[in-house]
Amino acid sequence: MKTSMRNSILLLPLLSACTGSTAGSTAGDGEDAQAFPACDEEFTVTEANPTLPWTPDAITLTSRELAPGVFVVYDRNADEYGPAGIPLATSGGFVIGDDGVLLVETMINRQLFCQMIDLVRAQTDKPVLYAINTSYHGDHNFGNAYLPEEVAVVQHERTAAHIAAHFEADIAFMEAAFGADQGIAETARVDADILVSDAGWSVDLGGLEVEARYHGFGQTEGDLFVYVPAARVLWTGNPLIAEAPAIPWLLDGRATDVRATLAAVKASLPADAIVVPGHSHPLTSAGFDWSVDYLDTLVGEVQAALDGGETLEEAQASVTMDAFHGYALWDWIHTTINVPKTYSELGGG
Ligand SMILES: [Zn+2]
Repeated sequence: MKTSMRNSILLLPLLSACTGSTAGSTAGDGEDAQAFPACDEEFTVTEANPTLPWTPDAITLTSRELAPGVFVVYDRNADEYGPAGIPLATSGGFVIGDDGVLLVETMINRQLFCQMIDLVRAQTDKPVLYAINTSYHGDHNFGNAYLPEEVAVVQHERTAAHIAAHFEADIAFMEAAFGADQGIAETARVDADILVSDAGWSVDLGGLEVEARYHGFGQTEGDLFVYVPAARVLWTGNPLIAEAPAIPWLLDGRATDVRATLAAVKASLPADAIVVPGHSHPLTSAGFDWSVDYLDTLVGEVQAALDGGETLEEAQASVTMDAFHGYALWDWIHTTINVPKTYSELGGG
């Protein structure tokens, strides 16, 4: 267990636990197979709540092998919802080397974390050795609370610092956005074991190397991009939410920096790279273009509004960017977050 808090949390729903089989229950031949006791307990499954962007306990995750040992994990509705602009659950994945497994993201709650572990266990009994979180946002790391103690949590050093200072606030944000009845607050803060600087980090899992790259401000000040060079597979986390018509969530602002980072990430990739966005199915590197074009247009139009003397309210009404419509969360993300953040940063009162 990663924290002592977790023990008391896990005792609460024990009445639903079944036979008490824990250690070794998932592996066929391992003498000391890695146990995930949090996943021996029953899950709560709910209907989708139409007032939420997506409903954690209504999500089913699926996996697909993108290259030998390299698996993406994503919302099974992604092929339909992504191109339609409907928000999707967090995407992640796992990489299996000779020595063990690396997780990309740990999801928002126990139910989705355990779905991910089940997808790993469907492929291998090798131990999970590492879990990389691309962001401080809880939908990428709250599952850390359910990792066994020996798994090394990997975060950018500024992500770790943000979590240390704002963990309770992020739980509140995630409950406000994704429901207070979704088991989100069951999590417990886990301190990262490996802190990644802007220089990046890499690990050899045994025959397969994984990199955690920093390319600049992507959505937060500590976004990591996870790359498997041998497979030319990249996980972007939130800086690239999904394909068109999804748009960046500039919750921490800095549209110009985000634009530069996304362009730099695309430029760093080979032409045939597979790009796993933060919240959809795998894309080609052309998947960056819509978000980059959106950000270019956003900055240009907000600047024009400022030059024309518009107030914030006038800019929110005038910067409609009709050519970029189609995302179900447009009114929230574009009008009430992205335009005001950019207006303020370009010098608006
Ligand atoms: Zn996310």
